[in-house]
Amino acid sequence: MKPFKVRLRFHGNLSVFLGSKAGDAVIERRLAEKTSIKDVIESCGVPHPEVDLILVDEQTVGFDHTLANDTKVEIFPVGNRGTYRTEKQLQTVGIVTFVADGHLGRLTRNLRLIGFDVAYRQNADDHQLLDVMVRENRALLTRDRRLLMHAIVQDGYWPRSQNADEQTIEVVRRFDLSELIAPFTRCLRCNAALEEAAKAEIIDKLEPLTKIYYHQFRRCPDCKQIYWSGSHFPKLQRRVEEIRSRARGKA
Ligand SMILES: [Zn+2]
Repeated sequence: MKPFKVRLRFHGNLSVFLGSKAGDAVIERRLAEKTSIKDVIESCGVPHPEVDLILVDEQTVGFDHTLANDTKVEIFPVGNRGTYRTEKQLQTVGIVTFVADGHLGRLTRNLRLIGFDVAYRQNADDHQLLDVMVRENRALLTRDRRLLMHAIVQDGYWPRSQNADEQTIEVVRRFDLSELIAPFTRCLRCNAALEEAAKAEIIDKLEPLTKIYYHQFRRCPDCKQIYWSGSHFPKLQRRVEEIRSRARGKA
């Protein structure tokens, strides 16, 4: 087969995967055999769950599209589709259940704080993460690019920032969750949905001052942790509001 040349233009924040600064990045690949567009894109370091729209010679294609001759390819991330807004999307937004890898403990806590269902085990290995992802139909959150490239991954995201608050805002934006934020409804420790608890039922578990000053409580049905709007609460509330407002903003 005659070798051919593929010119790939990666739009928006996909350039982070190419090690280049902000802005579009162009990569050229010489190929000598038929290759799927997905394999070519991933060979550049960009995991397929990050790709929302692919145009080959100005036509929308799916990941199974095969390249066999000189081609120009445009690749767009989620949330930055240029002028091609009406074209077919490859990624889903509005996913509300996640599985996070063992390095994302603080992101996990933040997402639970604002009400999202995040499966997390600090020592989970790749196999276990993928297993939970498939079995429970969750999107994978990981900073391990190779893991995100695994063929079995449908939905996933690679947080750009190393900072948990920034990562939280990124995830809310990526999956378009800002209207679904439900703070203080989920156990931060074990992920279960919290239940209202009558003070009388839990009073023997409270510290003396808490008994006096607080009247509304929530309890985790699984790990039995008790939550109330204590002295730390205004700080948490401010954090939730900041996440909410920044996730709605554009930049
Ligand atoms: Zn719990």
